[in-house]
Parts: sequence; C-alpha cells; structure tokens
Amino acid sequence: MNAKTLLRDGLDKYVFLYSDCIPVEGYAASAIYDLTRRLISTFPSAYYPFFELFRARRLREILGELAPEEGDDFVEFLDFLLEHEYVAVVDDPASFPAISGSWDAPCTIHNAIIDVRSQHHDYRKIVEGLDALGCQHLQVRAYSKLFGLTELAELARLCRSSSIQTLEVILPHDPSLGDADYVAVVGAHRIITSLVVHSADAERTIAVEYGARGSTAKLLATEIQLTVKPLESHLDCGHLAKRQLLPPSTPSFNELHQFNGCLNRKLAIDEGGQVRNCPAMRGSFGDHRTVALTDVVSREDFRRVWRAKNDEIQGCRDCPYRYACTGCRALLADPEAEDSKPLKCGYDPYTDSWTDWRARPGATATMARYQARLHLPIVRS
Ligand code: SF4
Repeated sequence: MNAKTLLRDGLDKYVFLYSDCIPVEGYAASAIYDLTRRLISTFPSAYYPFFELFRARRLREILGELAPEEGDDFVEFLDFLLEHEYVAVVDDPASFPAISGSWDAPCTIHNAIIDVRSQHHDYRKIVEGLDALGCQHLQVRAYSKLFGLTELAELARLCRSSSIQTLEVILPHDPSLGDADYVAVVGAHRIITSLVVHSADAERTIAVEYGARGSTAKLLATEIQLTVKPLESHLDCGHLAKRQLLPPSTPSFNELHQFNGCLNRKLAIDEGGQVRNCPAMRGSFGDHRTVALTDVVSREDFRRVWRAKNDEIQGCRDCPYRYACTGCRALLADPEAEDSKPLKCGYDPYTDSWTDWRARPGATATMARYQARLHLPIVRS
C-alpha cells in the first residue's frame, strides 16, 4: 500500500505506528527506532508533529486540518512510513498497548573492565568479587606484554565457574608468537568471545574453528582480529561515530531512557589497581586489594553516574540517536561542565551532520589536557 491508495481507501481509519517502532524527536533530525528489526531511520524534525495527529485523529480529520502547503509533505512522510513498514491502518489504535518502558537486569554489575600495563592485579579476588555481583561480561585491555596469552588462559580458567559469561580481550601483538598460539588459547576457552591483537604488523584475521569441520565449522567459527592500530591508554576509548551506535532493542532503548549507556552497572579496575566507574574517570573507590567490590558497588556515590542519561546532557538531549548512544562521561567537550557533551562525538544535532570530532574548535586542545593529566604522577582522586 502507498499513501495514494491509503488516502483513497482508508480515510476513516487511523494511521497506527507499530508499538515496536518508536519515534524520537531531535532538533534538526528525528528518528524512528525499529526495536524488532534493530534499525534506526531518520527524517527531518518538521515531520515529527504528524505523530501527534496520528494518535488523535482519523486520516480524514488530519487532511481537513492540514494547511494547503502541508499536503505534499504529509503524503511524502506517509509514503516513507509505509515503505519502511512502520505503520498500519487500523480502526482503533487503543487496541494496541504500548511496550512497557521498564528496565532491569538480573545482576548488580553487568560488565567490568580491567586495564593492565605495568603491574598485575589480584585477578582471583576480582573475579570472585565480580561473581558475587553477578557480573556477566568482562573486558581486559592490556597496554603492555605483561598480560599475554598465559595470563589470558589463567583468567579464562578463573572465570569458568563464575557468573562471567563472556571475556573480551585486547592484547598487544607479540612477534614471538605465531597464529597457532593465539588459536590454541581462544580455541581452548569458549568464554573468550573476542580477542583483538593491537599494534600488529598487518590488518588481518585468524580463524578459530574449534576443531569443527564443514558446515558446522561455519556456525561455530570465530575470528581473532589483528590491527596495526596501537592501544596506548584508556584515553583511546570513548569514540562516538555513527557505526558505534547500538542497534536498538527494547531492553537497550528502555535502559538508555533511565541510565547511562556506558556506565550503568559497570565496574572498572584501572591499570594502577584502583576501583572506578570507568578507567578514565577521576573518582577512585580504593585499591581492589583492600576494598570489597560489593561494598564499593553499594555506595551511592559509585552508583550516581549510572543515572547520567543522555536526556540530561547538553546537545545529547536534542540528538535523535540518544537512546542508541553509549555516551561517555569520562572525556567531555567541556571538562568543567558535568553535563557536557562527550568530547569524541562527531554528531551535531543542530545541523544533523557527522564530522570528525577533532575538527570541532578546541577539541584537540581539550584532548591534550586529558593527556597531560594522564602523565601526572598522581592520578588517584
Ligand atoms: S554523544 Fe550525544 S550528540 Fe553524540 S551521538 Fe551520542 S547522544 Fe548524540
């Protein structure tokens, strides 16, 4: 069906936006989040008020209220909605309840990061602490060869009988190791769902087939990624480009209405062993060897940043992608303003354009300030 047919045959019906297709108003562009197909489409915000009309009026009434110059826009927008299968025509939209906006997770901590550079941590104590909090996903970022395949295999063994379901690891390339060494460790520990080897000599992948053959191998296989890009510090994190937006789903959409997409239910151990919300955030909650992670997580000042949702952040509150964006509260465009937009975001909601964040006036100078702070002898606060 197209708009022309609809306006001929369905004038006494309502245009109903499917319950899993949610409109989000932005400044220049607005969006529809298709929570089942996990897609986002954008359109000029000038069309957004039509959604109010759809909810309250039959098509005949809407047409009667439109100014003459709005008619073509309305037909064009209706065609857009029909082509994407976002709408149906119905007799009574009240028969279709909205999806619940509530969100929760069966764990106190959902994911954790461990950074390693020049000292090892008490991995056993960390895993036990995370297990007590129900943590499901763990990421290790190694900036030096101190944490290599031997340590990874040992950590994978520690995680095996814990709540942790996935282990993602970023390691520096070690030229003394061959592909078979990497495959042997990943292949022996299914909990390792991702291994990225940074500072490698070429961009390539290594297949891990877990001993399977033929069509089964395709289903089971994973890839180890090698990249020439170095990972130098936690300051390399926090990029927000279009490809980094989360494919929306009902749980993530609901979560981002209430919480920060990066920090909610996250815990981090920085390279110095300090417990933080994120390795790049300033506030420390003590050395992981001397504090209990369960005590840290019960503190209100630890949980406060979980609620730093995009609706309350400058610029982000006008962004159509705000419920698909994990944001960043560690590296801010204005480090003095708690509600500043993330430094490394390349989207301008007021012009609906994506650019390299470094092109924004003052952005590289702000980054230099963060880098200078990293090299201060005392980073605990
Ligand atoms: S950081 Fe803010 S402005 Fe940038 S994409 Fe995310 S929500 Fe939008």
